[in-house]
Amino acid sequence: MPSTRRSSPSVVPEQLGFDGMPERLFVCTPSKLGAYADCPRRYRHSYVDRPAPPKGPPWAHNSLGASVHTALKNWYALPTASRELDALPKLLKATWVREGYRDVDQERVVYRAALRWLETYVRGLDPADEPLGVERVVATKTAVLAFNGRADRIDSRQGPDGPEAVIVDYKTGRSGLDADDARGSQALALYAYAASRVFRRPSYRVELHHLPTGTVAVHEHTEESLDRQVRRAEQTARDIMAAERAVAGGADADAEFPTNPGALCSWCDFRKSCPAGKEAASKDPWASVEHLTE
Ligand code: SF4
Repeated sequence: MPSTRRSSPSVVPEQLGFDGMPERLFVCTPSKLGAYADCPRRYRHSYVDRPAPPKGPPWAHNSLGASVHTALKNWYALPTASRELDALPKLLKATWVREGYRDVDQERVVYRAALRWLETYVRGLDPADEPLGVERVVATKTAVLAFNGRADRIDSRQGPDGPEAVIVDYKTGRSGLDADDARGSQALALYAYAASRVFRRPSYRVELHHLPTGTVAVHEHTEESLDRQVRRAEQTARDIMAAERAVAGGADADAEFPTNPGALCSWCDFRKSCPAGKEAASKDPWASVEHLTE
């Protein structure tokens, strides 16, 4: 019996404005939508204010994440016969991002941890597997959004009704992740929604691969749950466009894009120019890598 998740993708009618003209689509990536959902003020500083306020110094955890992602991307770029463990130190060293660490000693400890994670992770991969895409941009449109995003990896796997596109996202943060994180990730859902259209095959399964613990958090979407995430993203886009229109019409930009102080302020690029964020930020800049040891 066919599974309930296999209904065909919904066709989205073009949305018309009051004057009968198609409304402007909101061009977005998952990080753009996520920035607004996390803190409208951060969104404004990142995407609206020109010139943008000066950013703080780079974060060590961003450098670590970027280095690991690039090493994995380059591992898949090797010929199959060369995808071996001993390729990893060279790959990681070649694209290691040095910015943001407290000192060379901390950087060395983090480098060794990253190499250990990569070695453990790559041991579990089949070098002969060719993903559908590695750091692959997928794009699609809805009635409101012109979405594009770069997925870490899109695997081709056999599903119950034929080949499917599986979205894989690498994570290098301190905390482990579970199925709720995979289920709730709007970015993963949007990648799956777009991948099904780009590759013209079902894409329901999304996975978070947490390299520090070697765990994989999985969620199997349905057509309905993907549609729900798309509608949520569309609502965020409408809120942003309404705030931008209000500011263009003379409304107070601080009121239209309010702050949302909280735990994320510790890692916000703009906290130096944000009094509310300065007060809320409680962690030192290296808190997310300090736990790593030899
Ligand atoms: S420091 Fe906090 S409140 Fe201020 S912009 Fe950044 S995330 Fe928002």
